[in-house]
Amino acid sequence: MRYNALQILKQGLTGHKGWKPAWRKAEPKFDYDIIIVGGGGHGLATAYYLAEKFEQKRIAVLEKGWIGGGNVGRNTTIIRSNYMLHENEGFYEFSLRLWEKQEKDLNYNTMVSQRGVLNLAHTDPQRDAYARRGNAMILNGADAKLLDVEGVRKLCPFLNFDNARFPIRGGLWQKRGGTVRHDAVAWGYARAADMRGVDIIENCEVTGFAIQSGICTGVQTTRGQIKAKKIGVAVAGSSSKVLTMAGMRLPMESHVLQAFVSEGLKPTLQGVITYGAGHFYVSQSDKGGLVFGGDIDGYNSYAQRGNLPVVEDVCEGGVSLMPMIGKARLLRMWGGNVDMSMDGSPIIDKTHIDGLYFNGGWCYGGFKATPASGYCFAELIATDSPNDTAKNFRMDRFSRGLMIDEKGQGCQPNLH
Ligand SMILES: Cc1cc2nc3c(=O)[nH]c(=O)nc-3n(C[C@H](O)[C@H](O)[C@H](O)COP(=O)(O)OP(=O)(O)OC[C@H]3O[C@@H](n4cnc5c(N)ncnc54)[C@H](O)[C@@H]3O)c2cc1C
Repeated sequence: MRYNALQILKQGLTGHKGWKPAWRKAEPKFDYDIIIVGGGGHGLATAYYLAEKFEQKRIAVLEKGWIGGGNVGRNTTIIRSNYMLHENEGFYEFSLRLWEKQEKDLNYNTMVSQRGVLNLAHTDPQRDAYARRGNAMILNGADAKLLDVEGVRKLCPFLNFDNARFPIRGGLWQKRGGTVRHDAVAWGYARAADMRGVDIIENCEVTGFAIQSGICTGVQTTRGQIKAKKIGVAVAGSSSKVLTMAGMRLPMESHVLQAFVSEGLKPTLQGVITYGAGHFYVSQSDKGGLVFGGDIDGYNSYAQRGNLPVVEDVCEGGVSLMPMIGKARLLRMWGGNVDMSMDGSPIIDKTHIDGLYFNGGWCYGGFKATPASGYCFAELIATDSPNDTAKNFRMDRFSRGLMIDEKGQGCQPNLH
């Protein structure tokens, strides 16, 4: 069923009784050409692009829980392409371009809202670093504008300019950045993949891999064995747990990241604001709630639930940046489990096992990557060669000394 204005009118006049489920409740078959493990944003986008762009057939997505229950439905919804290293920037700009046409491609209202992303600078060297990053963005075809203090004040007059411990010195503004409704992205890709024949199988946990003579020929699941010629794993925070079942040890740690939403306020924030002197970022949802977050909980965990010290730390960041936030009540909060790689950049690559492919290491920035990650992973699985924008996201870059360390933090997953 395609969604359009006529359909809304028709359903409105007939008591909304004719809407169909967005995707079928598929039963697992005995074998497939391609299995994607993990029904998050990246797994669903991969299945969609496999069917739509790379003309693959007999595809299944296996999800241990429900669609939208992982990080794809838990993030703070920010999209942007404001990276400096060329290994990253081309890829994230490709992603932003796919976001820009996503609603049309999927025939689904994912609420893509290019309301802008502002990174604040609080010291002169930080402003210089933003100038350099902005130039790198422009060289890669992205948009970027360096703002002075007055430029920032015009956009966000409510920030703490005059009495702050870390005064604002300017900012880097990406107008095409913004927000997208996170769970709609999962539903939109699931529906679009289903419409192209992909079986989306929920409540189906992968519990092992069938590997013989270095070739992966299928998976064991809580709903029985399923064979496949090719298997792509995109399980985000569960990456190290899942690939342990294939005998692999990943250069990655799992940590909790929390998100927070305040009570609804009148429209205040135009776009996304990130604090440059602490770890805090905030936007305002269409319902009026301030949606914000900060640092990861600083120890390894597979939990989807956060701890109180980070709540205090994030709220401190918010109050020092925009003191008025102290008057708003916190309405709800939750945690997700993020796959922190050693250099802060992702992996989209074949493994050393034939037929087994891996996508992960998205840290806390993988939502904005969803369309490009799906596209590039689908291309790799379908053609066995990488997309040009993702060719550096190799698994062996750590042993080859070719890290993609955007932040310059070294091998410290908890600092990226
Ligand atoms: C609080 C928070 C805020 C964030 N904010 C942002 C942001 O503003 N911008 C941004 O770009 N990124 C953000 N991120 C990061 C982003 O959400 C993730 O990087 C991205 O969603 C990960 O990819 P995914 O959607 O495929 O993951 P998920 O949705 O987690 O998908 C993985 C799926 O694999 C399934 N799975 C696991 N094990 C198995 C198994 N054995 N068998 C079958 N299925 C399995 C899981 O149930 C899950 O559904 C944030 C993350 C969090 C937690």
